[in-house]
Amino acid sequence: MVIGTKFFKKRVRCLVARISPFQGDDMGSNPIGRIGRHRPAGASKSRHCRLVRARSLLLSAIGWLCKKLILIEANMVSKNSRSKIALERVYRLFELAEQEFVLHPERSRRYVELARKISMRNKAPIPAELKKLFCKKCGAFLVKGKNAEEKAVGELVEIHCKECGFAFKKSAAQ
Ligand SMILES: [Zn+2]
Repeated sequence: MVIGTKFFKKRVRCLVARISPFQGDDMGSNPIGRIGRHRPAGASKSRHCRLVRARSLLLSAIGWLCKKLILIEANMVSKNSRSKIALERVYRLFELAEQEFVLHPERSRRYVELARKISMRNKAPIPAELKKLFCKKCGAFLVKGKNAEEKAVGELVEIHCKECGFAFKKSAAQ
């Protein structure tokens, strides 16, 4: 973006330098709009060339600016929808992890791993309600009474992972 702005400023400076000598002369106050591809009879060749070049530069600068704006807009839209889609996938993966826990615990571990990867890559933080469902040390999907124990500590809940022995506290409200 910084390089782009520099580039644009340079172009504009060039344009101003090229156009200003022609302002107010016999070509009219807006020479850019009047220049055709073919040199009118009686016009100086070098002046005509400079005007044509100036016009093409102005047009390319405008084109570049439009492209940049379109890109910025597309990025903004995709960022919002990207994190939304990522969050949907995270929820779906936790759903699957819960379904597969009894018969295939290794699959539920893998689903948790995928969900964490998706959330990290798309800058969509895992919601607090789901953070209680896995051990952030060993990545196991936790089910109360099977591979996890819950203990109330004041306003918090201490969750103890039986797979690796890690214990962490989460808010009881969620
Ligand atoms: Zn663990």
